[in-house]
Amino acid sequence: MDGAPVKEPSFRESVDLMFNRAVALMDLPPGLEDKIRVCNSTYTVRFGVKLRGQIHTFTGYRSVHSEHMEPVKGGIRYSLGVNQDEVEALAALMTYKCALVETPFGGSKGGLCIDPREYDEDELERITRRFAYELAKRDLINPSQNVPAPDMGTGEREMAWIADQYARMNTTDINARACVTGKPVNAGGIQGRVEATGRGVQYALQEFFRHPDDLAEAGLSGTLDGKKVIVQGLGNVGYHAAKFLSEEDGARIIGVIERDGALLDEDGLNIEEVRNWIVQHGGVTGYPNAQRIEAGAVLLEHPCDILIPAALEGVINISNADRIKAPLIIEAANGPVTAGADEVLRKKGTVIIPDMYANAGGVTVSYFEWVKNLSHIRFGRMQRRQEESRHQLIVDELERLSRDTGVGWTLSPGFKEQYLRGAGELELVRSGLDDTMRGAYQAMHAKWRSRDDVTDLRTAAYIVAIERVAASYRAKGL
Ligand code: NAD
Repeated sequence: MDGAPVKEPSFRESVDLMFNRAVALMDLPPGLEDKIRVCNSTYTVRFGVKLRGQIHTFTGYRSVHSEHMEPVKGGIRYSLGVNQDEVEALAALMTYKCALVETPFGGSKGGLCIDPREYDEDELERITRRFAYELAKRDLINPSQNVPAPDMGTGEREMAWIADQYARMNTTDINARACVTGKPVNAGGIQGRVEATGRGVQYALQEFFRHPDDLAEAGLSGTLDGKKVIVQGLGNVGYHAAKFLSEEDGARIIGVIERDGALLDEDGLNIEEVRNWIVQHGGVTGYPNAQRIEAGAVLLEHPCDILIPAALEGVINISNADRIKAPLIIEAANGPVTAGADEVLRKKGTVIIPDMYANAGGVTVSYFEWVKNLSHIRFGRMQRRQEESRHQLIVDELERLSRDTGVGWTLSPGFKEQYLRGAGELELVRSGLDDTMRGAYQAMHAKWRSRDDVTDLRTAAYIVAIERVAASYRAKGL
């Protein structure tokens, strides 16, 4: 490229541009468009923690995009890239995401500007508790007002610290555990939350593959079986998506892109083995069973059927968009495709399953966890055995009929075992997640297919989400 570098819009500008594209096709009352688009508030906090004999100052944010429904919901990210523009973009995406998958929340997001790998566990606990204290005392962590969750650089461990910190500050709040989601199961979490976002990516692709007309749009056909997939970021989201797609749907994960380079094997990588290597060695470097590519990001441009960016935003931008060969991109990360790249890819005919839908599995299961915390009972606890005994009745009756009539039927042991087992929490969570991902896809699909002016899934997703947020504001009389 020659001359001045091409200017990309910032992440927040990208989200706004995509919002504007959708709103131009809608008929919103004057003023409402602006009300929905703007971020309501962003709180910046700087706090000190004494570590290794000296005070370290940290900067954190919690942004509330829309309170048309409360609590507001959105993850807390630990990364050196965290800044106000980023948290505001992510908070806006949360508003639209929650509306699209019908979780009754407004949008929020938080971040701490920190590289968590530079601190040991005790230090991270002290930093997290202090950050949680600063947010909780301003009701920016609160079961009825603002409920964080894990995001890049955070996980169950950090959520458990946050929940405990809030409980210490609110000793009589019986719903204290509902102040944050993504907690470990033994600290008020829910089965299936850790894997939820990756699982949601799998369910999203399964639903896409149930629509032959949409598949044809990407020049694809058949099933997920044997499809070549490249994943960027083998963290929580990328690892679970890659694992389920390869182990359960027969997809071939031919490439994995990480911070320190990429791995390529056209026959398919063993995801469990690669993940173990990364956990033990801190990266893909030295992994013996695949070709290593030093400049990992070039693998985004490698031919494959499905590209899954699952690391960070802006990785597909105007500098590489025209070289992307995958006909289908599913945005497991938030904002991996910039507005400029989106334009280029749409012109090329690339189908993009947008972030606000693709990674909504996390907030969906977070919603189930929040409901579980407020109801103080595990899903399935009341009905599981009752369901099993009713199924047993039918099986007994079928076997009696077979005996009495001399037909001699026997039920296969596999059927009996499966049919007799009542649904526990994990089965219910998966069922609720699958249902949500199917329903939301169908809503986007209906918009995409029913209107000539809606030419892509992202615009369809925005229109569905904005219509719902607008309806909620209208109902309030705003
Ligand atoms: P994570 O921290 O568990 O994993 C991120 C992975 O990306 C890590 O393996 C990291 O090494 C890798 N990575 C970082 N920089 C990279 C680079 N430049 N190139 C290649 N790889 C790089 O984070 P996560 O929770 O999996 O989140 C990933 C994305 O998914 C983020 O955009 C996040 O907002 C989004 N998301 C996460 C959740 C969730 O439940 N965790 C929910 C919705 C959306």
